[in-house]
Amino acid sequence: MTQGFSFDLHATDGKARTGVIRTPRGEIRTPAFMPVGTAGTVKAMLPESVRETGADIILGNTYHLMLRPTAELIDRMGGLHRFMNWHGPILTDSGGFQVMSLAELRKLTERGVTFRSHIDGSRHELTPERSMEIQRLLGSDIVMAFDECPALPADRTRIAESMRLSMRWAQRSRDAFGDRPGHALFGIQQGGLERDLREESAEALKAIGFDGYAVGGLAVGEGQEAMFATLDFAPDMLPVDKPRYLMGVGKPDDIVGAVKRGIDMMDCVLPSRSGRTGQVFTRHGVLNIKNARHREDPRPLDESCTCPACRGYSRAYLHHVFRANEIISAMLLTWHNLHYFQELMAGMRAAIAEGRFAAWEAEFHARRALGDIEPL
Ligand SMILES: [Zn+2]
Repeated sequence: MTQGFSFDLHATDGKARTGVIRTPRGEIRTPAFMPVGTAGTVKAMLPESVRETGADIILGNTYHLMLRPTAELIDRMGGLHRFMNWHGPILTDSGGFQVMSLAELRKLTERGVTFRSHIDGSRHELTPERSMEIQRLLGSDIVMAFDECPALPADRTRIAESMRLSMRWAQRSRDAFGDRPGHALFGIQQGGLERDLREESAEALKAIGFDGYAVGGLAVGEGQEAMFATLDFAPDMLPVDKPRYLMGVGKPDDIVGAVKRGIDMMDCVLPSRSGRTGQVFTRHGVLNIKNARHREDPRPLDESCTCPACRGYSRAYLHHVFRANEIISAMLLTWHNLHYFQELMAGMRAAIAEGRFAAWEAEFHARRALGDIEPL
C-alpha cells in the first residue's frame, strides 16, 4: 500500500461494506459517491457547495482536461486542486473510456490510442505512460490505470483480447506511475459479463498490485440485470482489504444494488446532468420539473430534504425558472440532486454500520414504488 493512503473497513452487512479511505487531502467515507467535475468544475456548482452536499471526493476527466486547457497549463497553475479551488481528494480517470466514446478517428495499437480532439480536430496520443504523466501533472490523488473498454454487446473474442491488452497496459501504468507517496493507483478489472475473463483479469491485477481496484466495463449498455449478475461475482474476485470502485454508475437503484454487492465507490454525471435537464431525484423516485403539474404547486421538491432548493423554493418557482431557462434552475436542481445522492450514501453507510442494510433497502424500494406526491 502506498504510504499516506489507507483503507479501513469498519463494518460489513452481507456483502455491503462501510469504511474510510484516508488520503493526505482528507478522508473519504465509503460507500462513496463521487460527483463528476468533467472540465475542472462540477457544472453549476461552486466547489464549497459540492462539499456542503456531503461529497468527500470528486472526479476529474483526463480526456477533457488534456485537450483543454491541457495538463501542462494546469500544472503551471499549481495543479488541479488549486486551479479549480477544490481541496479535497480528486480521482481522475485515465482518459481511455472517453477517447473511445468522444474522440474522432481513433486508432488503437499495442502502444496506445491516437485520436483527433472532438473540440478542434487536433491530433493526440494517449498511452499508459502518457496517461500516468497527465494524471501526475493534474495532481490527482487517486490515479486510474489506462485501459480499453469495449462497448457491450461485444463478442467474447473481442472482450478477451481487449481485457488482455488492458492487463498489459495495467503493468505499464504501474511501471510508469512509480512510487508516489500519498497518491494511489487503481487497477481496472475488465472481462465484460464473462466470469472466467473477470477472474483472469482480477488475477493479473493482483499479481501487479494496486492500491484499489475498479470494476470496469459495466454500465456500457448491458442493462441493470446483466450488470447485477456480473456484480454478483466480479467484486468478490478483488482483494477484500482494498477499495472497490464501480465506474460510471449510476441511477439510485443501480448504486444501491452495487453497494449491496460489495462496491465501495461510484461516480456518475447523472445527478448533475439531470439538474440541467429538469430531472429531479427524490426518495419517491424521479420527477420532471417541467411538467405542468408543478406550475402552481407551492410545495418543495421533497419536504424532508434540507438542501437550499427544498428549503427556500417551491415547485412552482423551480418550474418557472426551468421554463424561463434561468441559470438558477441548473444551480438549484443540481444542488438538490447531488444532495439526494449524498444522503443516499449516508443512509447506506449508517445502515451497514448498524447491520440493518436489508431493512434499509426494502424501505428504499417501497418509497420509490409509491411515486411522487399526488398533484394538488
Ligand atoms: Zn432538496
